[in-house]
Amino acid sequence: MNRNVIIVGSGPSGYTAALYCARAELRPLLFEGAISAGGALMNTTEVENFPGFPEGVLGPDLMDKLRSQAERFGTEFVTDDIVEARLTGQSKELVDSTGQVYRTKSVILATGSRYRELGLGNEKRLSGRGVSWCATCDGFFFREKDIVVVGGGDSALEEATFLTRFACSVTIVHRREKFRASKIMQDRVRRNEKIRILWNHEVLDIIGDEKVDGVRLREVTSNEDSTLAVSGVFVAIGHAPQVGLVEGQIALNRAGYIAVDGRSTRTNMDGVFACGDVVDHEYRQAITAAGSGCAAAFDAERYLMALHDCATPEEARVEATAVAELAY
Ligand code: NAP
Repeated sequence: MNRNVIIVGSGPSGYTAALYCARAELRPLLFEGAISAGGALMNTTEVENFPGFPEGVLGPDLMDKLRSQAERFGTEFVTDDIVEARLTGQSKELVDSTGQVYRTKSVILATGSRYRELGLGNEKRLSGRGVSWCATCDGFFFREKDIVVVGGGDSALEEATFLTRFACSVTIVHRREKFRASKIMQDRVRRNEKIRILWNHEVLDIIGDEKVDGVRLREVTSNEDSTLAVSGVFVAIGHAPQVGLVEGQIALNRAGYIAVDGRSTRTNMDGVFACGDVVDHEYRQAITAAGSGCAAAFDAERYLMALHDCATPEEARVEATAVAELAY
């Protein structure tokens, strides 16, 4: 069976692409990931800025609603990963973790991003033994402990605030003297008596044999080193796009995200579209990801219509692009 469209990845972009494709009667199949179904928002608590939820909504609840809405119009789901993609030609091949091959005329990549690491040797070794990237997943284990959160963006400040529910103290270690987080997050942090901020500090190492005992720090203006005894280190220094599946086949931009043509979701390969955090290094919000999932569904639909009338995927791409440009 040669499907119309397969969506790889869940989260706001994948589910929204599925919703629009399903309503266009393209009968989409969506691979939502073996362990990461729902994407990054499954690890958040309250989402306060998704329009339509004035009281806020829990990340997992929001994902559940988006998934149900896509399902209602006929999206089929597979709770597995695509481990190999062959994206050339009219019929593209995607291989799941059991080796099963799926054929499709178009692909929407919505693989999102993953937590960035500090790159310290002991970070990996002590992962799950005091080092974590997810406060909502692991915060509970740090009741009455002292914790460090690394980073200066919204994630770091959100994690730090959340962790004060459990911890005795939370120290935010930031490499500059200014946060890049939103003002509302900064105000919350400053008001919280359990949080202290170490400006201009970087983490040189994480200390501990079986579990985290502390961190070695450097004050970057004076180069003075110090040690801080803590039981937990939460790394919240941003995200990196998940492009491993298509690296080497699809063009990436300078920042390592999938490159798309202008405001569209068209990649450099005919019939392959990309949306959400895997293309967006700037906004990275649930609502912008959902919007880009919608755009991917439109782009795929236009391509499939053109493919019906054209001899080759290249011709279909040219015709679909011309149709999209006529809309301006
Ligand atoms: P981010 O905005 O890119 O911030 C990453 C932070 O980590 C920066 O402060 C950066 O320092 C620091 N950093 C990066 N690499 C580092 C390294 N190797 N060592 C030490 N520090 C390092 O990432 P984010 O906080 O994950 O936010 C990503 C996007 O999601 C943003 O658009 C944000 O607004 C959004 N977000 C929103 C919410 C919310 O609204 N509830 C919650 C979380 C995230 P510099 O400042 O020096 O570059």
